[in-house]
Amino acid sequence: MSTIADNIELVSQRIRAAADAVQRDPNSIHLLAVSKTKPAQAVRDAYAAGLRDFGENYLQEALGKQAELTDLPLSWHFIGPIQSNKTRAIAENFAWVHSVDRLKIAQRLSEQRPADLPPLNICIQVNVSGEASKSGCTPADLPALANAISALPRLKLRGLMAIPEPTEDRAAQDAAFAAVRDLQNSLNPPLDTLSMGMSHDLESAIAQGATWVRIGTALFGARDYGQP
Ligand SMILES: *Cc1c(COP(=O)(O)O)cnc(C)c1O
Repeated sequence: MSTIADNIELVSQRIRAAADAVQRDPNSIHLLAVSKTKPAQAVRDAYAAGLRDFGENYLQEALGKQAELTDLPLSWHFIGPIQSNKTRAIAENFAWVHSVDRLKIAQRLSEQRPADLPPLNICIQVNVSGEASKSGCTPADLPALANAISALPRLKLRGLMAIPEPTEDRAAQDAAFAAVRDLQNSLNPPLDTLSMGMSHDLESAIAQGATWVRIGTALFGARDYGQP
């Protein structure tokens, strides 16, 4: 059985190869380890193998893991759908939020971000797959949302996040990620972050400009949603 350290090495090789293929600096691509459904010990193992950034989708699960890992200097990223009643705990316990798709949520995060913490890093989730996905703002709504979020005092708008419809077809992957990159390039002022690419499509995402790839399965193995 492969260990988390072995998997990190394999994923790092894939990132380097994907960057080399398009003459990008591999250091411009950051690895976000998606630890949802995995125990705190898996995070500890990944930390020991060099990872610092961890992504979680479910608030209660994340808070439980964070409480078990307070001895480690980890950077936590919230990447799941956000309900209004969860914004305070997210504002207090995360360094990044990748999944903001409406202004009301951003306003609450800004109001609730504690004064003693740095501004909360934000990515706007965009929906480039049309009806296939219900999360994410539409491309048409993006410019106004980006402007409004940029004006919020306790947030730092960093870029865009997308989860295109899963496909094994490389051309379709490339088209979806290129659409996200083009949206980012259309915004003013320019943003430095593109959060896109998961275990099955990180090569395409990197070819189209990803700066964060969010990897779960390829690092920690398949998820078992049967466990509580
Ligand atoms: C689960 C999840 C991932 C990781 O997906 P894998 O296919 O396991 O790499 C990335 N991003 C988001 C938003 C997720 O929910």
